[in-house]
Amino acid sequence: MANMFDLTGKVAVVTGANTGIGQGIALALAEAGADIAAVGRTPAEDTVARAREFGRKAEIVSADLSTIEPVARVVAEAVEKLGGCDILVNNAGIIRRNDSIDFTEEDWDAVVDTNMKSVFFLCQAAARHMLKQGRGKIINIASLLSFQGGIRVPSYTASKSGVAGLTKILANEWAAKGINVNAIAPGYIATNNTQALREDADRSKSILERIPAGRWGDPKDMGGAAVFLASNASDYVDGHVLAVDGGWLAR
Ligand code: NDP
Repeated sequence: MANMFDLTGKVAVVTGANTGIGQGIALALAEAGADIAAVGRTPAEDTVARAREFGRKAEIVSADLSTIEPVARVVAEAVEKLGGCDILVNNAGIIRRNDSIDFTEEDWDAVVDTNMKSVFFLCQAAARHMLKQGRGKIINIASLLSFQGGIRVPSYTASKSGVAGLTKILANEWAAKGINVNAIAPGYIATNNTQALREDADRSKSILERIPAGRWGDPKDMGGAAVFLASNASDYVDGHVLAVDGGWLAR
């Protein structure tokens, strides 16, 4: 059974790999055997160094994914530097908060372009490579707001609902061609993204009271789901959005 999760010889392209959930996933994939292309704006030096400590090859690929301009280059550079693209993790994402009545076009476009448009076109660029080799694993990072409405985050909710939808349509189109497309929907995870929320004592308390597991998630908590969805153990799992949320949605 253990071999089903072995990623030795695979190359994983992980966006937003310098910190938070992206770093947690990149390191879990490296521990399971994968070489890592760490994609993002801020160079993921720490992630690359730690992946190498597992004995893996790891390289930085610089890209600002607020536009789709770099997506084809990202995949090409990963292939050139590491020799392949077997796993794509679309993790990079941003959030903007405001009442819907006052929400600006700038805040709409910034979030939707980064969280959804670039995700689609990175899937496309990776799939063009994966289709030639007849196999591949794509993992999109969704959210609890792929299932729920949220408050004061209209572009984020739209983008993450969109990511769940894209995951399903791409799985439909590519499952028979050897590419599994699935998503992870993290719950409340302790990262830079949620720092302000955690520092707000009242909000943090009410969030914690609602999480059955009774604690914030750690980026490492995403690692097991990511390794599963990147490995042969998930070969018959397609178009699934896997909540890793300490039971939040069960409440
Ligand atoms: P962080 O803010 O800690 O990390 C976000 C990552 O995305 C960073 O690496 C950041 O790079 C990168 N990024 C943002 N914009 C761009 C861009 N234009 N181009 C390239 N990279 C970019 O957030 P999390 O780790 O919390 O979030 C990771 C993902 O998980 C996001 O998609 C988020 O929506 C999702 N998520 C998080 C939850 C949570 O509770 N934390 C819950 C549900 C979903 P840089 O450091 O350079 O800005």
